[in-house]
Amino acid sequence: MSEYDVDLFVIGGGSGGVRAARVAAQHGARVMLAEQYRVGGTCVIRGCVPKKLLVYASRFRAEFEDAAGFGWTVPQASFDWPTLIANKDKEIARLEAAYTATLQRAGVTIVKSRAVIADAHTVQLADGRRVRAGYILIATGGAPSYGDPIPGIEHAVSSNEAFHLPHLPPQVVIQGGGYIAVEFAGIFAGLGAQVTLVYRGENILRGFDDEVRHHLRMDMEKHGVRVLTGCRIAAIEPKDSRYSVQLSSGNHLTAECVMFATGRAPNIANMGLHEVGVEIAADGGIAVDEYSRTSVANVYAIGDVTNRVNLTPVAIREGAAFSDTVFGGKPAAVDHTNVPTAVFSDPEVGAVGLTEAEARARLARTDVYKAMFKPLKATLSGRDTTVLLKLVVDGSTDRVVGCHIVGEAAAEMIQIAAIAVKMGATKADFDATMALHPTAAEELVTMRQKSASYVREAAE
Ligand SMILES: Cc1cc2nc3c(=O)[nH]c(=O)nc-3n(C[C@H](O)[C@H](O)[C@H](O)COP(=O)(O)OP(=O)(O)OC[C@H]3O[C@@H](n4cnc5c(N)ncnc54)[C@H](O)[C@@H]3O)c2cc1C
Repeated sequence: MSEYDVDLFVIGGGSGGVRAARVAAQHGARVMLAEQYRVGGTCVIRGCVPKKLLVYASRFRAEFEDAAGFGWTVPQASFDWPTLIANKDKEIARLEAAYTATLQRAGVTIVKSRAVIADAHTVQLADGRRVRAGYILIATGGAPSYGDPIPGIEHAVSSNEAFHLPHLPPQVVIQGGGYIAVEFAGIFAGLGAQVTLVYRGENILRGFDDEVRHHLRMDMEKHGVRVLTGCRIAAIEPKDSRYSVQLSSGNHLTAECVMFATGRAPNIANMGLHEVGVEIAADGGIAVDEYSRTSVANVYAIGDVTNRVNLTPVAIREGAAFSDTVFGGKPAAVDHTNVPTAVFSDPEVGAVGLTEAEARARLARTDVYKAMFKPLKATLSGRDTTVLLKLVVDGSTDRVVGCHIVGEAAAEMIQIAAIAVKMGATKADFDATMALHPTAAEELVTMRQKSASYVREAAE
């Protein structure tokens, strides 16, 4: 008989944990998974999926407006927030049940409980039960972090609560410049709220290509979102049934809802990690090697809790790779380069590979190709918007090392472009591909003129 109750104990039933548990069970391991809230984790319950549903809802406004140019008369449209939230919740409950059933079918035992590590081979549940495990996988994800405390911070909501507001607030102030902040700005504005985005940096979407950042900001402002950069919220004070929001610039705003989207922190607190010797990296995530192994030999960590690339498909891939490595006899390391990413803002952003600035810092020669144009649909709708497509090319090898898109369906486009970038396609390969007309994406294969070319100065 085994000295362990289970071969694998997974802490956290989110994107990474669920996949790891299922694949390990399919490899024949006896698996137990603990989830303290709802199976499915951030992505399914209060992340990607509900957010995208809200994004869809917010886009109908523009569709109704645009229809007039195409000959439609659309009666005055009205929107009901409780209906949207109820329908969204129903779909999330369906998905949660589906995830649970998949795990159970694979033979995984699910315990609805918080779990912490008692020692390298023991997990402790909230009711005091202890489970001995051959391996422990930490897949506890991350949680919203509010940054430095300010007076009145208790009145602010995070993305967690934003999915469950009782009604659509007429005015929303959002602090943050990352993808969650700009996505919620688009959601609330599209649904009819007055939105102000407050960000302490010089421009939104830090880490994305500078032209993308500039382009998105310009289009967001055209669509009615007020973007205030170089300042932050200094205090929040209840006033009548709203809040007076004091900014570091000295100005005041009034809003019914104040949302903080100021980043997420790995869920590592009070988990017993320090006591058992699991090292934490300088960025606050659990330190792991390429196989997701921590500093304790039989303890692994995957997904957002490791703070590598905090996206669902990455957590899923890391979960599967862990189980293939440990239980499938197929060591698998996840390649974190050229991960495509999207921002479901208004307009949408899609990106893969190096930004222009990164390429110029790393490559001997960088060529940039760019197309900026009014989309065909906007010619009749009259909507004031432009699409940006940009290719960053290694001038020495002709390889396309970055692709950046702002505009309708940018996320769908970038998923496909990412295959070419990952395969190492050259600009000549893009050029040799026949255009598909009339699309916005055809510009990716018809950009013949360089918009810029840079040679890196030799290091001293
Ligand atoms: C608003 C928002 C929008 C997002 N949009 C996108 C998107 O469009 N695309 C994308 O790819 N990614 C998106 N993400 C990121 C994505 O949700 C995460 O990268 C992904 O969920 C990480 O998966 P994970 O398994 O590491 O952690 P999680 O999905 O966070 O799962 C961790 C689970 O562990 C549980 N847990 C924590 N501690 C314990 C404990 N001690 N015991 C038991 N259970 C515990 C938690 O309750 C949670 O269910 C979004 C995130 C947010 C917040």
